[in-house]
Order: sequence, then structure tokens, then C-alpha cells
Amino acid sequence: MANCRLLYHCCACSDNIFPMTDCLFCKIIAGSIPSKKVYEDEKVFAFEDIKPGAPTHVLIVPKKHIAGVDHLTEADTEIVGYSHLIAAKIAKERKLEHGFRTVYNVGPDAGQTVFHLHLHLLGGRQMHWPPG
Ligand code: AMP
Ligand code: ZN
Repeated sequence: MANCRLLYHCCACSDNIFPMTDCLFCKIIAGSIPSKKVYEDEKVFAFEDIKPGAPTHVLIVPKKHIAGVDHLTEADTEIVGYSHLIAAKIAKERKLEHGFRTVYNVGPDAGQTVFHLHLHLLGGRQMHWPPG
């Protein structure tokens, strides 16, 4: 799709590898909005949540713009598993041997506020179930 390369986002293209100009997390990944970076590689960017819900609260974000779990395609299967692998590595580094929680909020009922896929890693305190 050669024309897609002229655009930041193309609804007809399943491979939205270019940042969305109006997306907070695309801007954080690009460095135009500051963040406390925890980890970065070619696939994901991880940073401290600005309003932590636990002693460890890190967001693991694919560099590819995907609006949320409800927008995943088969092409995104790997990044979902990879994000969990990175979450587990960060949890190990933070010595969260008593446990941790990984969460994707999807849509208004779950309280999703940022529409760029992000995996929450929470740990360092006792979690409750079911979550509020
Ligand atoms: P969600 O409600 O699942 O969409 O999660 C969005 C998360 O992004 C929330 O936990 C916010 O505290 C966090 N957040 C919003 N803005 C920023 C920011 N500038 N830097 C870091 N985390 C942020
Ligand atoms: Zn984005």
C-alpha cells in the first residue's frame, strides 16, 4: 500500500506503523511528551504510569499504533504476547516475586481513557478480586 506511507494513519491499511499525530502515547513514544522510561526496544516502549495505582505501575505500549484490544487483528497476535513477556521481565527486575497483575482496559465500561493499546503492570501491594 504505497499511498499509506504518505499518511500517519490509514483506515484501509491493517498495518498502522506510523504514529497518530493526536495520540498521547504515540507522542510519548516519539519523545515529544516526556515520560519516565522503564524499557524500550524496537517493538515496545514502557514507562511509569503518571497516576500510579500501586507501588509498581508500568504501562507497556506497542510502538505500532493500535487503538485497543477491540481493534486487534491477527497481525497483532505477537505483540500481545511479547508485551506480556516484557511485563514479566520488568516484574522480575522489580522483584515482584509475591505476584503482580497485568490488565488491558477495553472501552468505557472498563474505564479505558487512552486509545493506544497499553498493558498495565501493577504490583507491590495486595490486589483485590474482582477489581473495582
Ligand atoms: P486506561 O485507563 O487503561 O486507558 O489507562 C491509561 C493510563 O494512562 C492511566 O492509568 C493514566 O494514569 C495513564 N496516563 C495518562 N497520561 C499519562 C502520561 N502523560 N504519562 C504516563 N501515564 C499516563
Ligand atoms: Zn498512538
